[in-house]
Formats: sequence, C-alpha cells, structure tokens
Amino acid sequence: MKKTFIDPWGAVEFKDYEKLFKEFGVKKISEKMRRELKHFIFERKIIIGHRDFEKVFERIKKRQPFINMTGIATSGELHFGHKLIVDAFLFFKECGGKSYFAICDIDAYTSRPDSKVPTLMKAKEYAVENLSHILALGLKPEDIYIQSKKDQRYYEFAFELSKKITESTYRAIYGSLDLGKVSANLLQYADILHPQLPEYEGKMPSVTVIGFEQDPHLRAIRDVAQRLQSVGYDFELPSALFVQHLSGLLEGVKMSKTISGSAIFLGDSPDVAAKKIMNAIDGGRKTAEEQKRLGGRPDVCKVYEFMKFNDPDSKRVKKMYSDCIEGKILCGECKQIRGEIIKKFMEKHHEKLGETKELAKQMVFG
Ligand code: SF4
Repeated sequence: MKKTFIDPWGAVEFKDYEKLFKEFGVKKISEKMRRELKHFIFERKIIIGHRDFEKVFERIKKRQPFINMTGIATSGELHFGHKLIVDAFLFFKECGGKSYFAICDIDAYTSRPDSKVPTLMKAKEYAVENLSHILALGLKPEDIYIQSKKDQRYYEFAFELSKKITESTYRAIYGSLDLGKVSANLLQYADILHPQLPEYEGKMPSVTVIGFEQDPHLRAIRDVAQRLQSVGYDFELPSALFVQHLSGLLEGVKMSKTISGSAIFLGDSPDVAAKKIMNAIDGGRKTAEEQKRLGGRPDVCKVYEFMKFNDPDSKRVKKMYSDCIEGKILCGECKQIRGEIIKKFMEKHHEKLGETKELAKQMVFG
C-alpha cells in the first residue's frame, strides 16, 4: 500500500481521519477523556486524536503541573480556525498547564513563500495583528513569547538540537530540504522542547494542540528528543492533540483572505461577520415545505459547523441541531439568529481590541 505523505505546509486538508489513525498510529480520544475533560472541544469531537496524551490527562486529574505549549505562525490575519487553538490553550491553562504560547514570526517568514510573507518585517506586522486578537481573547502577556525576541538559551538550544536530525530522516519526514523550512523547523522543535530545559520548567509532560498536517513536526520532535539523550538531555516525549479542521463557509473552498466570504476573520467588523453567516452554504432543502417535512441537513451545513466549533453554549448548539433535523426552523431564520450571536461576540471583541493593539505593538517592537 502506498504510504500517505503529509506536507505540513501544503494546501490539502485531511478529512480521512480513519486512514491517519491506522497509518500513523495516532490514537482516538477515549470516552473517558471526553467525559472528564469538560470542554466543548472534547464533547463535540472537535479534538479527535492524540499522541501520548494519557500522561497529561493523568496530571490534569491529579492537579499536577504540565506544559501547555502552542504557537501561531504569523503569516496572515487570524480567523476563527485560529481562535479554536487559543480556546484550547486557555482551557489547558485553567487545568494547571504552564503557559508557553509562541508568536512565530521568524518561522512564518522563513517557511512561507515570498508571495505570502515577503519580509521579516511583514511577519512582525502580522505578529502585532495576531497578538492583539490573542490578548483580546483572554491570554495574558506572561503566557506568550515572541520568537524573534526569545532569550539566548532558546537559540543556543535550537542550534544544538540541529545536530540530532540527519538529512535522510529529514527527507523521509518532509520530502525535501528547503533551507528556510529547515530553519523554521529547528525553531519549532526548540519551541516544543525548550520548556523542559532545567532553565525553564525541567522535565515534564507537555501538550500541544495541532492539526493533522502538523504531525510530521511532532514525529520529528519526538525523535530529536530521544536523540538528545546522547548529549545528556532528559525529556518527556511531547504529547499532541489533533484538532479537526474548520472548513470554509463556502462550498469546496478553504478559509482564505483572497476568497471573499470564505472565512470570518477576527478583524472583520461585526456587520461583515454577520453577513458572512447569512451568505454561508447551508444544508437547507429546496422548499420550505420540504424542510418542514424532512428537516434540514446540519451535517453538511457550514453555519452549523461554524457554531459547533465556536459557540461555547452547548445547550444552544444542541437545540440548533435538533430544531434543524426536526424541521422546526428554516435556514433564513436560523442564520439570522447565528448572525446576531456572532455580531455580539465581535462587538465585544472589538471593544477589547481597542486596549490590546498598543500592548501587542509594544510586545513585538518594544
Ligand atoms: Fe443549517 Fe440552520 Fe439551515 Fe439547519 S436550519 S441547514 S443548521 S442554516
């Protein structure tokens, strides 16, 4: 059987999760984890798989510390797909995780094509934009570090670990040897492993929430962590949780700034965000009569998917689903209600942005 190759920078979104579980040894989230980790990302099966998460789960149950590490490459404006990563990070912070949220500006510049991030300065400008949203969503400055401003020990470690990955291993995992991507990867490995250095938290289980396409990085990092033992380091192998992708609001289109209406960006005005919900692809029937008789199809509806990923009110999301399949509501009214919910969220978010923009600028350029 031909092996599936995952390109972490590719445009392909993996939806054939069963294949990935079988081929790459990713485990499914157990019912026990879903029950005991009381957050909608688990309840609604938005987080679907893991590598080695059991040890972090045990720590959460015993109220023992663990490392909560995540990052965002600052290669564009933030949309609601990114918000989910921030929501997950905040949840693990509440569970007792030690915060390491990386704003990856160097990574974004070196690993993305010039058409997307032409200069390091552009990556830093995106860093300010992204950071202002992340702070408005509830993270504190002390939870976050900016990659380009990280301390010397981190960079020393990034160079040190570079000797523990060979060219053939690198090619086997990533397929090619692009120097910009290689340097971005070394920083990513340092991002995930450095919190376990004695200068930070010391040896400790860690969790990072990622999409399936990021799994090659995780496999490489776990390999490097083991090899670093030969030079005296001692790490817990990092764990990961895999999150489903939130697809675009339009049919067959990924979330993208260049395709109008395909995604809601955190910088959109409240009215624009509500309008995008109204124009999204729904799962309605041909006529009102048919919808009342047969019910709608929430499982193919982009509005339902969006709310499932973003509305923290589980009762409301369940009602949206049942009203839809029972034909109790038509799409126009349903979208109107969801548009209002998003509009209210965005109004509050934009109020907070007024306060966080200056702080974000200070953190990146100050
Ligand atoms: Fe989607 Fe709502 Fe229409 Fe159902 S009623 S298909 S959930 S927009």
